[in-house]
Amino acid sequence: MTDKELYESLSYERKNAYLKMTEAEKKEMWEMSDSYRTFLDKGKTERECVREAVRMAQEAGFVDIDLLDNLKPGDKVYKINRNKNIFMAVIGSEDIRKGINIAGAHIDSPRLDLKQNPLYESMDMALLKTHYYGGIKKYQWPTVPLAIHGVIYDTEGKQREIVIGEEENDPVFVISDLLPHLAKDQMVKKMTEGIEGENLNVLIGGMPIEAEDVKETVKFSVLKMLNARYGITEESFISAEIEIVPAQKAKNVGLDESFVGAYGQDDRVCAYTTLRGILDVETPKTTAVAILVDKEEIGSCGNTGAQSAFMMMAITELIEKVNGKCSLTDLNKTISNSACMSSDVSAASDPNYPNVIEANNACYAGYGVALMKYTGARGKSETSDANSEFVYKIGKIMNENGVIWQTGELGKVDQGGGGTIAQYVANLNMDVIDCGVPVLSMHSPFEVVAKSDIYMAYRAYVAFYKN
Ligand code: MN
Ligand code: MN
Repeated sequence: MTDKELYESLSYERKNAYLKMTEAEKKEMWEMSDSYRTFLDKGKTERECVREAVRMAQEAGFVDIDLLDNLKPGDKVYKINRNKNIFMAVIGSEDIRKGINIAGAHIDSPRLDLKQNPLYESMDMALLKTHYYGGIKKYQWPTVPLAIHGVIYDTEGKQREIVIGEEENDPVFVISDLLPHLAKDQMVKKMTEGIEGENLNVLIGGMPIEAEDVKETVKFSVLKMLNARYGITEESFISAEIEIVPAQKAKNVGLDESFVGAYGQDDRVCAYTTLRGILDVETPKTTAVAILVDKEEIGSCGNTGAQSAFMMMAITELIEKVNGKCSLTDLNKTISNSACMSSDVSAASDPNYPNVIEANNACYAGYGVALMKYTGARGKSETSDANSEFVYKIGKIMNENGVIWQTGELGKVDQGGGGTIAQYVANLNMDVIDCGVPVLSMHSPFEVVAKSDIYMAYRAYVAFYKN
C-alpha cells in the first residue's frame, strides 16, 4: 500500500455526491426534483401540504385510520390533526412494542401572517397589517411579489379558502420599501432595525370609489370586492388564518440546473422526501411512521406542533388497533424502543459567508444528506445530542444502503445556532437524530438546495424505514 492509499484508508473525506452517483441514481434524482417542485408550488402553507400529503398517500393505498378497527402487517393508514399536522403509518411484521421507525418533518415555514384586524387605508391606499411568523430577516420581504393563502369564514359560517397570486393572471401583492434617494436615515440603521415589523404592511388596493358619506373609499372598495368574491366582511378576518408568502413558483437554479430555488424548502424538502420515503414502504419489519408537523418555526408549540400529544395519541391508537389493546406499559415499551429521524434542513456552507462555519464540520450543498448529532446554540443548549450508539447505527444503515451523506452543524461554535423537533421527540425517550438537506439562504423568500441532496435525503429515509 502506498502512503497515499494508507492515508486515504485512515482519513475521513467527504466527496460531492454528483461525482459519486450512478447514472440510474441521477435519472431518479432529476425526476424527483421535478415532482418536488410541483409539490412546493401546491404546498405553500401547512394546510396545503397536509392536503397534498393526503392526496399522495391515498394514491399509494393509505386510508384514514378511523375507517379501520384492526390493523395488520402491511396496512397503510393516516391520521390528520386539525388539517395542519398528519401522521402516517405502515404496519410492520414484527411486534410493534419492539419499536417504531419514525421520520418527522415540519411543514410550516417562516412567513407573514395577517393580524386579526388587518385592513386599513392610508394615503388612498389599502393595506394589510401583518405579524411575521418564525425567524425572518425582515429586510428580505419588501419588494417581493407576494401571494395570499388561507382560510376564512364567510357570513354564512362556511369556511372559504383564499389563494390569490399563484395563477398566471392573478394579481400579486407587495410590501413597499423606501427609495435609496430618501433612505439616508434608514441606510445607517442596523439591519435588524432597517425594516421594522410594523412596516411589513401589504398593499392590497388603490382605487377609490364614489361613495356618499364614506371617508375611506379604497378600503370600502376592497371590502366590497372581498364580499362579492368570498362572502366575507371585515369581521371575518378575526378568525381567519391567512398567510402572506412569496408568489413565485419553484425554479431550477444554475446553468446546469443542479439546484432547486423556492420559498418554503425549510422544511418541505424533508417533508416531501419523508413522504416519498414512506409511500415506498411495503410491509416493513418495523412499523414505519411519518409525521409532518406544524409550528416548528415558532418552537414546536401548539396543538399541531411536535410538542402536542397528538403523536403519542396516534401511536396509542396504532398499538390498540394492532394488538387489540394498549396498556401504558405497551406504550412506554414501544416509545422507548423507537427510533426517529428528525427530518429537518441544515445550513449549507455559503461561499459568500465562509466565516460563519467551521469547514471540517459544516455541511455542503451537493454533498448528500446531512446527519447532525446535535444542533442548538451556546454550548449545545436546546438540542437532543444523539448518543454514540444511535449515530453509529444510523451511519451504518446509510453506508450499507449506498446513501451519500455528510455530517453537519449549525455554524461554528458561538456563531448562533438553532433547534429542530429532535429535542421534543427525544423528551419522549426515544432515539433521535437530525437528518436533512443543506439549504442556502435559509428562511429567505427564495431558499436554495442541491438536487443530489434532495435525492439522498429520500434515499436516507427509505434506508431508515427498511431497518
Ligand atoms: Mn426547519
Ligand atoms: Mn427553520
